Amino acid sequence: MMGTLQNVAIVVLVISFFTFVAFFGRLPALRNTPIGTIHRIIWLHIPRGLRVVDQRLTQGRLSASISKLAHTLWHDRHPVVMIFFILLLSVSEILFLPPAWAMLSTTRKVNAVFILTLPYLFLYAAAASDPGYITPENHSHQMALYPYDFTIFHPGQTCRTCHLLKPARSKHCSICKRCVAKMDHHCIFINGCVGYGNHHYFLLLLLTTAFLTTYATYIGFAILSDQVRIQVPSWTAWGSGFTWSQYANIWAWTLQEHTRIGAVTLLCLLTSPLVWGLLGYHVYLIWAGTTTNESMKWSDWQAEMTEGFAFKRELPSDRQKDQSIELAWTRWPVESEQIVVRTEDGLPPRGQGLIGVGEWQRVWKLADVENLYDLGFWDNFWDVFWPRYGFHHRAANGNQETRSCPTSPAGAGVG
Ligand SMILES: [Zn+2]
Ligand SMILES: [Zn+2]
Repeated sequence: MMGTLQNVAIVVLVISFFTFVAFFGRLPALRNTPIGTIHRIIWLHIPRGLRVVDQRLTQGRLSASISKLAHTLWHDRHPVVMIFFILLLSVSEILFLPPAWAMLSTTRKVNAVFILTLPYLFLYAAAASDPGYITPENHSHQMALYPYDFTIFHPGQTCRTCHLLKPARSKHCSICKRCVAKMDHHCIFINGCVGYGNHHYFLLLLLTTAFLTTYATYIGFAILSDQVRIQVPSWTAWGSGFTWSQYANIWAWTLQEHTRIGAVTLLCLLTSPLVWGLLGYHVYLIWAGTTTNESMKWSDWQAEMTEGFAFKRELPSDRQKDQSIELAWTRWPVESEQIVVRTEDGLPPRGQGLIGVGEWQRVWKLADVENLYDLGFWDNFWDVFWPRYGFHHRAANGNQETRSCPTSPAGAGVG
């Protein structure tokens, strides 16, 4: 019995490790680290080797059907990862709770029930609510959410699939096959997009999951420490007064005696930084007034600017708006005062019928252009959590300064 559980624990650890590598291995920041190397081995070298073997054995029939399956899994909506996530949660709870329950105080029991329930609740809320799908019926409402910033979102772009004008900050999701308002990213854990309508639920899912893994780590170590103390009365929480080998032996013995609690505690210890990291990244995006999708557009601009291909000039506040591509009014409290464009030849734009007044200035870095969607951390936060009610208090103050762009976001496309 213990052997089986140990194997289950190892399988769970291995799967979570590979999940970590799959998600973080492709980040540019980790390219030259062991994580990046393992990522390349798993996703590049091993598949290549297997394809060569398959070519010899079945003339490549097996790899053809596998890549077809992989294509479906990668390009269509399916709940595989969501089911994996729910199983990871529930199997860990089934392993952990029965042996731990009798050792928990009443307060901890109440806390545990509360903390265990919340991730399921917000997973359901994030997955079941409309992320902000853009339809012909709600299109004019979606167009009024944000003004175009004439930098990463220009008016007049039509989605080739939905045949609708793309509202500012929206993106067509190739997996959901719909346009999504204030699209952040397509999240395989909730099997849907994170956008204007469910961004807050997604953040609450991350927050409550981070709390869950942290609390379980704490409770797990507390229980195991209590168990050690029954055998070794002089034991303290950090095992001070013991040599390293005694310390390691005592923990090895404890984990063997309490495999179920030990395995789940270790899993929670290892996954906590991952969940907190993702949460921190999304809080950073809110602080910077951007989304995962937009942070990739900003990175592209950064590259254009460094090359010297980006130019900006002023947009007058009383400019005439083309009502067929841009609404006269949006609920956002500020409007763009600049237009930023790139040119193919690195020379200032000439006679292309572009709007704006005055000379074109070359832009060398993101800090030199304004991010229209950054109103400061609290207002950005407010816009995520209470978007419908956010700006009533601003109507009176009129225009307000916007801050500069996010500087080269590190982890575009994670999560
Ligand atoms: Zn679309
Ligand atoms: Zn999607």
